[in-house]
Formats: sequence, C-alpha cells, structure tokens
Amino acid sequence: MRPEAVAAWLGAPSGNAASLHSTGRAARRVLEEARESLAEQLSCDAGDVIFTSGGTMADNLAVRGIHMARHTADRRRDTVVVSAVEHHAVLDTAAALADGGRARVRVLPVDHVGRVRLVEAEALLADEGARITVLSVMSANNEVGTVQPIAELAALAQAQGVPLHVDAVQSVGWWGAPPAPGAAISVSGHKFGAPAGIGALVLPPTIPCHPVVYGGGQERRIHSGTLNVAGAAAMAAALQASRGSTLASAEPGLSVVDLRHELVVAIRDAAPEARVVTSPDALPGIVSVMFDGCEADALLMLLDAAGVECSTGSACTAGIPQPSHVLEAMGATAVQARSALRFSLGWTSSRADIAAVTRALPEAVARARRASAGARRAS
Ligand code: PLP
Repeated sequence: MRPEAVAAWLGAPSGNAASLHSTGRAARRVLEEARESLAEQLSCDAGDVIFTSGGTMADNLAVRGIHMARHTADRRRDTVVVSAVEHHAVLDTAAALADGGRARVRVLPVDHVGRVRLVEAEALLADEGARITVLSVMSANNEVGTVQPIAELAALAQAQGVPLHVDAVQSVGWWGAPPAPGAAISVSGHKFGAPAGIGALVLPPTIPCHPVVYGGGQERRIHSGTLNVAGAAAMAAALQASRGSTLASAEPGLSVVDLRHELVVAIRDAAPEARVVTSPDALPGIVSVMFDGCEADALLMLLDAAGVECSTGSACTAGIPQPSHVLEAMGATAVQARSALRFSLGWTSSRADIAAVTRALPEAVARARRASAGARRAS
C-alpha cells in the first residue's frame, strides 16, 4: 500500500455512510470526497462512480448488468462480445450468461502480441451491432501487458450504438482513464497502492445496468451493500499518489520502464534461451517470459525459495495447471504457455530486485528444466 493510502485508510471514520446520525454523516462526507477525487482523476462525473469490492465485482456488474438491462429492454439484443484475452472476471461472467441461456457470446480474436484485431472487431460490430448488448475489452492485459486499441474500439462501438465496457484494472494507476469517453470502466484499488477489497465501476447514466447484488439500494440502487468508506478514501488517495508520481520507481532517476528494460536485459543474460513475450510498448510494470523446457509452476517455486516472487499466467483446475488462455490466444502451444512467468514491477521496485532475479534465475531454470525432463521421461 502507498503511504498516502495507509494514512487515508486509518484516518477514515468508521461509521455507516447510510446512517443519518453524526458519525454516519461524517462517513458520508469522506465517501463523497473520495468519489469526487476519483471522478476528477478518471475524467468522469462523481455521480458516475459506483464503489464495488474490487475489479472482479466491477467486471461482473458491467458485463451481466449491462447485458441484462439491454436484453430485457429488447430481446433481439442477445449477444455479449468479449476479447479472447480478457480476465476471467469478464470471460467467466459472459460464459455464465451463455450457460444460463441468457446470452450468446462472441469472442474477438487477437494477434500474436495479444492485440484485438480491429478489422475483425469492425466487421463483427457492423454485422451484428443490433444484437450486441455490450462490448467488453480490457485496456491492458494482466499477463503480458499488451495495450488494446481502446480509442478505435470506442469509435467503432459508438458508431453502432453499442455500449463499451473497459476493464482498466491494470492501466488506471499508470495512465488514468482509458481513451473512451462514455464507456463503463472497471477499476481496482489494490493495483495502484490501495488495500484489496475496494474498486469501482464508472457507469455513465447513458448506459443502462441492472443490479447483480440486491439489498439496501446503495450506489444508485445498482450495487447494494454497506459502503467501504475507509477503502474508498484509501483508493482515492492511492490513485492521486500514483498519478502524481507517474512511472517513478524506487531507484532515483529511473522510471519503471527503464527498470523493466534492465530486467529484460538481465533475464536474457541470465537465461539466454528465455523468450520475452512482453513488447516494449506494453504496460510499464509487466514482463512475461517463456522459459522453454520448464514448467512455470516449478520455476516459480524455485524462484520463491530464492526470495523472488513472481506469477504464472496459468490457473489450477482440480490441481492440474492449465495453460494461460492469453498466451494460447496469441498463438502459443499449451506447452509454451505453461512455461511462462510474469514479473511485475512498480513504485517499490529497484535495481536490487533485478539483481536478485539475475542471481536466482540460472540455477532455478536449470533445476526446473531437469525436473521437467525427468517428468517427461517418467510419463
Ligand atoms: N481485471 C484485470 C485485468 C485484473 O488484472 C484483475 C486482477 O488481477 C481483475 C480484473 C480482478 O480485480 P480484483 O482483484 O480487484 O478483483
């Protein structure tokens, strides 16, 4: 957490912002100040900001809520469009609507770097625009960092009268609002230095949206539940702090982009066969790398034991690692996709972190490779 967020979090009143007594009104004031601060930073109206418990809730609300509102108003509108590389909060919400017989889902393909193919998006919107309830495309990918052509997609969607939802969870802390005026936007506090458990959906009044959660009618009756005032205050403070120090790392004079470049060079030196997937124009804080011949899960554990914490793109289903859907959509084989690790950098990262990776990597790769070869021989 950023120190500014810790201060705002600890300083927030503990009252219920819906209560009419003094403590409740004090909490409401802090909540509304946080809403206004977020709105200013996200270039929207304060009334557009709906606080949620995080990015997952914002994505679920946007995809399901907008689909159900527009589908209920006109049953001929039955199609949700998502890109192939969305976060599971979007993909699985769309899939659940389809499984329940409530939607038809169309998936936009991506190119080899994970960018939505605009020609195909344009064709789909032109052919099926009248059937589409919502188009959901992320601003930048959480596994490989690829930035999507949001301004172009927003123009295409607008031309067909289709509401756009942008999952901007990864990019907001770096770049503020995505270039899509009038779109619904998901935000998650813990991605830019607020505590986990707070997020927001920016939902302009022009986009109809049904609730997903029912109860006390908070947040324009679209998202009920007692509000997380301390979280909202911390999120506003964290966003302000991250936007104020845009791209600065903990290494004096070095931006996160400079540091990432040094990390890429260091990884290539330490493990010459490693293939860096992330392109230089991707989100600043992400480097995704394939280590041929290794199972990423084994490599992750070996690096963790050496004090380096990183992630795989894979998910575990019933204890079996699944390859990343993002890398597969970019054309990687399942074996290649299972060999990918993601390193994340941010405002706390320094050259010492890069040195730690460089020290740990050669032996970890060699051991992971031996383990994979052994497993292959045994099977
Ligand atoms: N969308 C993207 C692109 C993400 O990276 C994440 C989390 O990593 C989420 C949604 C989910 O956000 P949260 O962790 O706040 O539920």
